[in-house]
Amino acid sequence: MKRIVVGLLAVAMAGSSFASLPALIPIPRELKLTGGTVAFAATNSPKVEVVASIPPEGYELSITKDGVTIRHSDDAGLFYAKQTLAQLRADATERVPPGKGPAPSGPIALPCLEIKDSPAFHWRGVHLGETQRLYGKGTIKRMLDLMARYKFNVFHWHFTDVKGWRIDFPEYPNLARKSALPGLCSNEQALFYSKEDVADILAYAKERHITVVPELDFPGHSRGITTAYPDFACPVKAKKRPDVLCVGNPETLKFAERAIDWVCETFPSEVIHIGGDECPRHFWEKCPRCREFMKQHGMKSTKEIQPWFTRHLAEYIAKKGRKAIGWDDIVTEHGNVAKALDASVLPDRESVMVMGYRCRSVILASLAANMGYKVVQSPSKYTYFDYRQGIADDPFKYFGRSVTPLETAYKFDPYEDVKPEARANVIGGQCCNWTLYTLTYRDLEWKMWPRAFATAEILWTNPEPNKRDFAEFSARAAEHRRRLIREHINCAPMK
Ligand SMILES: [Zn+2]
Repeated sequence: MKRIVVGLLAVAMAGSSFASLPALIPIPRELKLTGGTVAFAATNSPKVEVVASIPPEGYELSITKDGVTIRHSDDAGLFYAKQTLAQLRADATERVPPGKGPAPSGPIALPCLEIKDSPAFHWRGVHLGETQRLYGKGTIKRMLDLMARYKFNVFHWHFTDVKGWRIDFPEYPNLARKSALPGLCSNEQALFYSKEDVADILAYAKERHITVVPELDFPGHSRGITTAYPDFACPVKAKKRPDVLCVGNPETLKFAERAIDWVCETFPSEVIHIGGDECPRHFWEKCPRCREFMKQHGMKSTKEIQPWFTRHLAEYIAKKGRKAIGWDDIVTEHGNVAKALDASVLPDRESVMVMGYRCRSVILASLAANMGYKVVQSPSKYTYFDYRQGIADDPFKYFGRSVTPLETAYKFDPYEDVKPEARANVIGGQCCNWTLYTLTYRDLEWKMWPRAFATAEILWTNPEPNKRDFAEFSARAAEHRRRLIREHINCAPMK
């Protein structure tokens, strides 16, 4: 028996006609080829058994001469077992010489094997920014299909920001209708999603075991809101409409609470994202309403306003039985430092979680994890897919000069800078599709794939960073890239 080690996998191969491992992404945590093959058609039903001891979302897949058996403890586990089985079928089909293959759904020889698999993290996310432009339901559904195939389970929908508010909130109708800056959407594009569109996307995601996490980006990044409702901005003279909410206006606070009521009614997600990134304070300095607000609350500095706002919203969300998450700015200082906010203004660790993006001397979300917050990691240097890919003659435009090639995406370690005793605070991670320069869905797909293969594998399997074999991963990623291209997904070259 030949035994090879791939990453954390010990793979036993015995007399199999499969000389190499099936190209699965993410690679299962345990996979053993047991030798021989069995014919299996897409129309065949595997035998399914419920085994309570299998972890949530986990499954076991046995392929023997007698057929295919799936064991699982929950619906998600059964779903992921079927995704793996579909990848095995696709892999087996690739191995048949051209012209000798079976009908698309016909019987094909699958390798006999034993898989035991479960995710390393329960937040395996893909973020999509849809405020600069709106891609539409078709693009989102295509994205959800691929997310499910690669075992992602969170769709983080960033639909409010500087340049628009893209879902109709009927109580404040101007948001969806008057927030977008002129010229951002062509005439053929709808400017926002209706309630029915959102219900359709939620149902589609649910069928694929994907939770849609909505983000209300407060109190900064809110020029979309202040364009639609100017009184929600500080009444100060400025060249551009302020990109921050006037926290001193009671109507603004009422709006923020009603927006939370509305997302809680619309989205079943337990977690509600409240933004919190890159909040400017200089408007608050000059605003008579905000200065009065500070006096009432005994605040000495505008630095205390955002932490108050975060705590207020997190408590409001907690009372509704949900949980808030915000970008790492909600617990750390602004700017180029790796420093926590003063303990007197920090939000409660039970009511708010932290989503990381900034990489300083340490990854700031790791600092938050070490402080006791539950965190979702999306450090920009590994997971921001609006960064360049290092591809020669790349036809698309990217944000800034940062480069995140596939190899760097595969170096993402959700535990980087996290103390061993704080590892349990890392609940997962995600890749982020910011779309300032991402003009169309073809552009979006190009930036996301193949890099999202790396994120998918890290969040599901999380091979030990020092045991990852990029060449081996690349070979599998190249195979999946070929499949996506055959499905007309605009996947970028490997390098
Ligand atoms: Zn103000």
